[in-house]
Formats: sequence, C-alpha cells, structure tokens
Amino acid sequence: MTQKAVNPVFMPGDAPEDCTLCPRLTAFRAENRKKYPAFYNGPVPSFGDADPELLIVGLAPGMKGANQTARPFTGDYAGDLLYATLAKFGYTSGTYQTMGNDGLTLKNVLITNAVRCVPPQNKTIAEEENNCRPFLINQINNSGRLKIILALGLVAHKSVLTTFGLKKSAFKFAHNALHPLGNVIGDKNITLIDSYHCSRYNTNTRRLTVDMFEDVFRKIQNFLK
Ligand code: SF4
Repeated sequence: MTQKAVNPVFMPGDAPEDCTLCPRLTAFRAENRKKYPAFYNGPVPSFGDADPELLIVGLAPGMKGANQTARPFTGDYAGDLLYATLAKFGYTSGTYQTMGNDGLTLKNVLITNAVRCVPPQNKTIAEEENNCRPFLINQINNSGRLKIILALGLVAHKSVLTTFGLKKSAFKFAHNALHPLGNVIGDKNITLIDSYHCSRYNTNTRRLTVDMFEDVFRKIQNFLK
C-alpha cells in the first residue's frame, strides 16, 4: 500500500473524514484515490488558530494542493501567495513548505474552504456548497473572538452571506470592500471583507496583484487594531 504524504489534522466541527453528503464529490474522491494513492483525497480540515479573530474562507481544495496535502491552500500557487502574505503580516510562526509537514502554525487566523472536497474542474455546485455549509457554521460558532471574515472569491463571499441568512443583493462582492454584517449570529458582530481569489489564474491575468492582496491584509490589520 502506498504511504500517504501527510495525515489530516481535524478540529472540532470539521467534516468527518468519511463524509459522503455530496455524491458527486464522494465519487470523485474514490476516483482520485486510485489515480493518486499517495494524496489525501478527503474532506480537508480547517487549519490554524482554533479561536481566531480572522477567518479566511476559500472556495475548495485544489487537486494537487490541499487535496494532496490535507491542509487548506498548501501545495499550490494560491498557497504560496496566501502563506507568504500571512507571514508578512505576522500571522504565522515557522516557515511554510508546500507539503505541509513544516510545523507551521497560524496566529489569530483560521483558514477553511466553503466546500471541503476537491471538485471536478475546480467547480462546485450549489448543492455541494449547501451540504458543506454546516461545517462553516460550526467553525463560526466555535470562534468566540471572531471579528472579521475574509472571503477569497465570489463563491466564498456568497457562502458566507448565505450562512448568515443575508441577501446577496445587499452586499455586492468587490475586491477589498468591507461589509459590516451586524449582529447576525448570537452576539457576534462580524464584518466581511472580500478579495479576488489568490489563484494563479487571477495573478497571471493581473486581476489580482501582490500589492492588491497585501492591501486587503493592511485593511484587516487596521480593522483588528
Ligand atoms: S464537500 Fe463537504 S459536505 Fe460534501 S462530501 Fe465533502 S465534506 Fe461532505
């Protein structure tokens, strides 16, 4: 049997390793286990501080990124940019390495995905976003100090709004825009901030530059002062 590169580290409220709520994604995982037996090929747990002020929500694991390494944004270009930016703004301890077996820890930030299993062609469907939402809600409920959520891309932005039962028309996605959401879960006064996803495609096309991404983190840092 091929040894897997890394083992997932689950947090309270994460999806179980054998979650089968999405038939299409469960079948895709099984296919990928045959094709890439050394990859993780399961629901990727959240990573970081269990009680953070900042929660980062991405779309879904990349095939050869988090789907391989069992850690969000680890092993592909999006992770190179995200973890470098987190390090620059003082949110990390240790040095990020692409296989995830680096001992890296995050300070005051937790990273998760709106959909935790890798989707075919990197495209999720609404049913899968709905199926996976309870795990995002768990994460929010477990984070008593949470103040701000960074949505990486439109799908994550919409998923956060749906999580809070808010109208999408009232909060239009815009890069580096702050959206105060108000007291929407218990006594939490959450603000949402948007960024274009830090994917290779977005940086290659210069929809998102390093400066633009760092501007978002500058705004977050000022917000949390
Ligand atoms: S995407 Fe989420 S809900 Fe769907 S099977 Fe994976 S962990 Fe379960």
